[in-house]
Amino acid sequence: MTHQEILTSLTEKKAQLEHRISAIEADLHQGRSQDFAEQATETENDEVLDEIHHQAKAELKYVIAALNRLKNKKHGFCSSCNTLINIERLHALPYTTTCINCAT
Ligand SMILES: [Zn+2]
Repeated sequence: MTHQEILTSLTEKKAQLEHRISAIEADLHQGRSQDFAEQATETENDEVLDEIHHQAKAELKYVIAALNRLKNKKHGFCSSCNTLINIERLHALPYTTTCINCAT
């Protein structure tokens, strides 16, 4: 995977996440129905949506951080020990910040 391919894949990932987050937010901001039984179901759905929303936002943060590192030509280096991260690891986890040895 080249530098450019990682950049492209991260840019796509960022767009996907932003799309997902705005779809969830639109859903969360929808009006509530008057029916009590439906309201209970909606509350449960909201909890699930909140969780997905939270995860998507956390992932987006990693993707943006990785894009910034990539622009600074720092991508591919472990943020902890500063060695070059294995290319296969980067391929599987393009926004990882640590090498396999430093990963928790
Ligand atoms: Zn490391």
